[in-house]
Amino acid sequence: MALEATAKAYCRTISVSTAMCKGCGICVALCPGVLSLAGDGKVSVSNQSLCTGCRNCENHCPDYAIFVKVA
Ligand code: SF4
Ligand code: SF4
Repeated sequence: MALEATAKAYCRTISVSTAMCKGCGICVALCPGVLSLAGDGKVSVSNQSLCTGCRNCENHCPDYAIFVKVA
């Protein structure tokens, strides 16, 4: 009997409110592979393809400035 595998592709979208982000770096410390601080002192998404959609960044941001959507 042949085994069949079904792969589901997840689309993760990380959104940052630059108006609300104060650049504290908490989310970057939690996820340095995906997030970084940009020259303007705000967080930026440097490698979205590595995002697992865990939402740790969103859950720990004190300013509700980062949002993760997993579809
Ligand atoms: S934790 Fe929130 S306020 Fe701090 S750098 Fe990340 S998005 Fe900005
Ligand atoms: S959802 Fe998880 S993997 Fe994705 S950026 Fe946030 S902390 Fe990193």
